[in-house]
Amino acid sequence: MAEPTYSVEKECPICKNKFDVTRTRGRQVLIKQDSDFCSHFQSINPYYYTIWVCSHCGYAAPDTCFEELTVAAQDKISKFLANRTVNVNYSGIRTREQAIATYKLAIFFAELIAAPTSKLADLQLKLAWLYREGEHEEEEKTSLTKACEHYEQALFRERLPIGTLSEAAVSYLIGELARRTGQTEKALLYLGKVVGSPTAKLEPRVYSMARDAWHEAKADRDREKEAAKAN
Ligand SMILES: [Zn+2]
Repeated sequence: MAEPTYSVEKECPICKNKFDVTRTRGRQVLIKQDSDFCSHFQSINPYYYTIWVCSHCGYAAPDTCFEELTVAAQDKISKFLANRTVNVNYSGIRTREQAIATYKLAIFFAELIAAPTSKLADLQLKLAWLYREGEHEEEEKTSLTKACEHYEQALFRERLPIGTLSEAAVSYLIGELARRTGQTEKALLYLGKVVGSPTAKLEPRVYSMARDAWHEAKADRDREKEAAKAN
């Protein structure tokens, strides 16, 4: 059987050195998808390898925008990394802990260059999924909460679609992330927007997920009210 990963040589846009990135081979077999779009795959988890990290200077970013840097952003990262000795090597097979570390690095650099909030949202969401896989509930919740806030800001500030997400899909995701992190009123607000939107009906999958999540959020609110009465 072919190895599940292979390496490719890349040039770092910051230090201009060459380093190896690990990529997963072929298409992964999807087993299931969670209600916040987290995909579970049969063998290797491709989320482990989406962040590229230069082993020379430590610059890290998602594969989709690793080289996509403005001159100002390059300058900012170069200045930050100047005179720092970095000793990181995330080539080859990554453990979950290593994958988590690469996401933290990518989030650090994305914040340093004030990347669009949708990018930060995506990074926090995928980091949360790695925590979920490792059953680190507290950390998962912290990252989901940050992802929720970033998506909310992105919806106000950025042009749609956000990545591959339509307005209905982003609103649904904000609502679902709010529901998962115990922000029931916010969840009902965003999920209600999708459920009540005629255009969202044109996206049957999103619409039906929003309807299910809205019912669950409503049940959560009822329980919260009961609990408040009991106290
Ligand atoms: Zn570099």
